[in-house]
Amino acid sequence: MAKKKQRSKRITFLIYLLSIIIVCIIVFNIILSLKAENIANEINIIHNEYAELEKELENKNNDLTEIDEQTKIIINIDDNIAEIKKEYFSNIKTLEDKILASESDKKIAYLTFDDGPYYLSYKYLEVLDKYDVLATFFTIGNNKEVCYDNKSANCYLLYNEEAKRGHTMANHTFSHGIFRGLYSSPTNFIEQVKKQEELIRNQTGVTTNIVRFPGGSATAGKYKNAIIELLRANGYGWVDWTAATGDGGSLASADQAWNNFVNSIDSNIEVILMHDYNHYTLEILPKEIEYLKENGYSLFPLFYESNMVNK
Ligand SMILES: [Zn+2]
Repeated sequence: MAKKKQRSKRITFLIYLLSIIIVCIIVFNIILSLKAENIANEINIIHNEYAELEKELENKNNDLTEIDEQTKIIINIDDNIAEIKKEYFSNIKTLEDKILASESDKKIAYLTFDDGPYYLSYKYLEVLDKYDVLATFFTIGNNKEVCYDNKSANCYLLYNEEAKRGHTMANHTFSHGIFRGLYSSPTNFIEQVKKQEELIRNQTGVTTNIVRFPGGSATAGKYKNAIIELLRANGYGWVDWTAATGDGGSLASADQAWNNFVNSIDSNIEVILMHDYNHYTLEILPKEIEYLKENGYSLFPLFYESNMVNK
């Protein structure tokens, strides 16, 4: 009997134990599944965070690529400007060719200013800026450290002022010494051209190969052809003019400058000679630009490939 009781006790104990084990397993499983759910949630959060970081990284990479592209543009800015200028001049050349072949009724005028820079050139630049017109400056170098028309100003500064605004810098020889040996030999002439080329380059960083003879090519007299040969051999082009205000000589009034100007405009492509030291020309310059525009002219700066630049 006591044995039976003891057995029953043991069975009861075993059932207990088993129940406890089962309950433990169930609780453990519940805990485990809760934990698993938490872990899954955490993994999900981490996954989302990772995806966000990845997106951010991609954005940053895109930003970097953009910065890289912009840096390239900045580094190559000179090349890009040169490329744009090349295309701009190539388009003008095409237009010139069409005009000369009578395939276009458009007109072109090149405003050119000789003998500068002068202090008065600032006023010329203001007018050109106001009308958004680019011109050509045939500069000289002799005694330009001090402005002839304002002894307290340095006229070298004007070279860069003209160049940075986009005007064509051109060469009118350093000395302009028509009566001081400029035309005494072709070599003398070329030396003065090279000296001025160097000055323009030092002041502006621009190398120009467009030359105008002081007084015009006829002034070179017996050496004209030999000088032209030398210019060609050294890669220079030269240009005279087809119209003028007559301000290189003695002008009596702005009216006279105006009449000279209007009477000389008669071609579809004009190279207009003026001097940026002359007050009368400055006075009529706005009217000149308006007159040219009203008469269908587009105003451009000169360039080496132009048909108006002899080579
Ligand atoms: Zn001159």
